[in-house]
Amino acid sequence: MEKIRVAIAGPRGRMGSEAVKMLMKDETLQFVCGVDPKYNGEDVGDILGLGALSAPFVPDVRQALETYRPDVLVDFTTPHVVKQNMVTAIEAGVRPVVGTTGFTPEDIEELDRLCRTQGIGAIIAPNFAIGAVLMMKFAQEAAKYMPHVEIIEQHHDQKLDAPSGTAVKTAEMIQAARQELRQGHPEEKETIEGARGGYYNGFRIHSVRLPGLVAHQEVIFGAVGQTLTIRHDSINRESFMPGVNLAIKKVMEHTGLIYGLENIMV
Ligand code: NAP
Repeated sequence: MEKIRVAIAGPRGRMGSEAVKMLMKDETLQFVCGVDPKYNGEDVGDILGLGALSAPFVPDVRQALETYRPDVLVDFTTPHVVKQNMVTAIEAGVRPVVGTTGFTPEDIEELDRLCRTQGIGAIIAPNFAIGAVLMMKFAQEAAKYMPHVEIIEQHHDQKLDAPSGTAVKTAEMIQAARQELRQGHPEEKETIEGARGGYYNGFRIHSVRLPGLVAHQEVIFGAVGQTLTIRHDSINRESFMPGVNLAIKKVMEHTGLIYGLENIMV
């Protein structure tokens, strides 16, 4: 069986470097190059301290795709560049598997259309941890019966976007199941701006940023005389890698954009 050729955009980052190690452990996958404006031409494995991998850094996505002909582009970069990276890949017939967050619903629709025009697949997962996907599913189920809810997400202090992609996805799933309701006292006033968090369709999302945290989320439901808390913690970035591995394999069999790991879990 031919190996799936994989390029990684952002291979020096916290997630990207974990993805390089994951590829090294899977004999059905071949890491061909890293896309990064720095370290042009140097071996990614050497720079990461993993030993030579015969996969160089290439400064630009288009050049990486033309020269190293990957089947899949894994992206763990930043919200500023990820959409253009995806467009470049899809137009070149290369299937993106994306963990970088910060997409709008319009972006998702546009990228899906582009995938279908090109006849290839793409996967964006705001959270590649299986436990986080279960947390979202359980929260959606609970929202049917307990519509009073708040989301508290906690991440390391270097995260660029707030709320997290996971919190937004959880909110969308809750919204799809929950009866319409604007929570809280109608005359509630904030004496410190932002104290009540971000407003999403009648409920609130709170973002905590501190060094020492990785990726954590609580969904708290309230009803008369009781609360229910559903919590997920990623305690290291290895937690995301079985999901990335699965997405690389699934994206080869699909046409159109899949948004969310739950759509490929059997
Ligand atoms: P990070 O450590 O800052 O890594 C990002 C990497 O991308 C850095 O090495 C950065 O290089 C590089 N980069 C910046 N601009 C680039 C460009 N134009 N082309 C190629 N590489 C570029 O961030 P992280 O913690 O790995 O997170 C990356 C993304 O994944 C974030 O959006 C985060 O929210 C998301 N994330 C997703 C999941 C999930 O399960 N889906 C889990 C965790 C994180 P410099 O440092 O030189 O700028």
